[in-house]
Amino acid sequence: MTTGSRNNVHNVVILGSGSAGLTAAIYAARAALRPVVIGGSQHGGQLTLTSEVENFPGFAEPVQGPALMETMRRQAERFQVEFIDGDATAVDFSRKPFEVATPGERLLARTVLIATGAGTNWLNLPNEQRLIGHGVSSCAPCDAFFFRGKEVAVVGGGDSAMEEALYLAKFATKVTIIHRRDTFRASKIMADRALRNEKISVRWNTVVEDVLGDDHVTGLRLYDTVSERREEFKTDGLFIAIGHHPNTELFRGQLDLDANGYIVLDHRTMTSVDGVFAAGDCHDHRYRQAVTAAGFGCMAAMDVERYLEAQRG
Ligand code: NAP
Repeated sequence: MTTGSRNNVHNVVILGSGSAGLTAAIYAARAALRPVVIGGSQHGGQLTLTSEVENFPGFAEPVQGPALMETMRRQAERFQVEFIDGDATAVDFSRKPFEVATPGERLLARTVLIATGAGTNWLNLPNEQRLIGHGVSSCAPCDAFFFRGKEVAVVGGGDSAMEEALYLAKFATKVTIIHRRDTFRASKIMADRALRNEKISVRWNTVVEDVLGDDHVTGLRLYDTVSERREEFKTDGLFIAIGHHPNTELFRGQLDLDANGYIVLDHRTMTSVDGVFAAGDCHDHRYRQAVTAAGFGCMAAMDVERYLEAQRG
C-alpha cells in the first residue's frame, strides 16, 4: 500500500456514494473542503437497485433510481469532488490524522464522514435478483404505488413486514404475509393492526422457495412446513421484509455500534470518535429514505465544516 501523491492530509474523506454520501460531498465541496469520496463497490447505493423513484422531491416525472444517482454524481463532479472507485478496506480512527485504506492506497484525513448505507437481507432465491424491479421489491413506500389494484405477497414476520403489508394494503387488492413460523416476531400493536386489516391475510409456517415469472413476477413456489406440501401461488409482487444490515463491519471495534450494528451518534452527526461523522442508513434504521439520507448527508457535511473551523481556532 502506498500513500503516493495523496500523502497530504485531506479535510474530509467520505465513505459511500449513495444519496447521503453524495449530498455530503456536494455540501463539503461547496464549503471548499475538497472532499474525497470513496464510492464503494455498489456505486450510487441502494437507489441503484430500484426502478422508478416517484418520491424524491424535484422530479415531477418518475426518475429511474440509477439515473438519479448518476445525476447526483455529476452534480458533485461539478464542484471537483474527487472520486475513488471501490471499497475502503481498513480504517484507523485510533489516532489523528485518521487513516483510510483502499486496495491501492492509504489516505490521511482530519475528518471522516461515513455514509456506507445498509443492505437489504434477501432470501437468495434462484430468480430473486433477476426480478428486482420487475415485481420483487424491498421497499413498499418506493414501489407500492405500482401495485394499485394488484395482489402482492410480503415475506417476514417482524415489524418491517407488518409495516410493508399495511402500506401495500392501501394500494393492492390483496396482501398475503408469508411467514416461516406460526407466530409473528413483530410487536403486538403492529401485528394486531395487520391482522385486523381485511385486505391482509397470513400464510403461516410457509417458506418461499422461488419467485416465478419471465419478465415480471407472476407467482411464487411455496412450501408448507407443516403439511410438507408445495404449491404455486399466484401473485403480482413479492416484497422482502426480513430485515436490513448496516454496512458497518469495517468500523467494528473502532466506533460505538448498537446491537444491530448501526452506528451510534453521540452528538448531532458525530460518532463516538471525535472527528468521525456518520450519515444515512448506516446509522438510521427508522426512516431509510433517499431523501432523509440526503438530509443527513447535508447535516453531517455542515457539522464537519463547523468542526474543522473550530479546530483551526
Ligand atoms: P426483524 O425484527 O429481525 O424480523 C425479521 C423477520 O424476518 C422475522 O420474522 C424473521 O423470522 C424473518 N426472517 C428472517 N430471515 C428470514 C428468512 N431467511 N426467511 C424467511 N423469513 C426470515 O427485522 P425487521 O422487521 O426489519 O425489524 C428490525 C428492527 O426494526 C426491529 O427492532 C423492529 O422492531 C424495528 N422496526 C420497527 C418498526 C416500527 O416500530 N414501526 C418498523 C420496522 C422495524 P423469525 O421470526 O422466524 O425469525
